[in-house]
Amino acid sequence: MGHYCRICGKHKPNEKFSGKGHKNHICKACCCLPKKDRNRIDYLQEMYGFWEQKNISKKNISRLGTLSEYEDVEVAAIASVLRVVGTRFPLKKKRLSRIFKEMPELIPRLESTGIIQKRSFSGYAEAVEDEANAIYDVWDEYSEMERNKA
Ligand SMILES: [Zn+2]
Repeated sequence: MGHYCRICGKHKPNEKFSGKGHKNHICKACCCLPKKDRNRIDYLQEMYGFWEQKNISKKNISRLGTLSEYEDVEVAAIASVLRVVGTRFPLKKKRLSRIFKEMPELIPRLESTGIIQKRSFSGYAEAVEDEANAIYDVWDEYSEMERNKA
């Protein structure tokens, strides 16, 4: 069956985990990484998690404030852009389309930090699609009303 390593993201057989690593979901290979590298991966995953959440909470935002001062430049850069996102656009729903409309200057920062890398176009298409669906919803309501009238 094996186990999942939260650092390298791989499923590995039991013997690839030490007793302590088992508990922490870190394989032996990743245990050997310097603590700094492991922290970096942990923090990046934590922040990608915030981005995927339905809502970036006040607690998340204060955490991002802490991480934005972290020694690793990549971690700090992502934390500082996500802090703005969390403050201005906490809700995941239609976030990208709102950012495109209201704060387009954030887009290059999101792209350069890799948060929307490769996904920017599909993300935007999705956002547009969401809006199209909202229009269909209104149309559905309208036809429903018309039907009820008849
Ligand atoms: Zn690993």
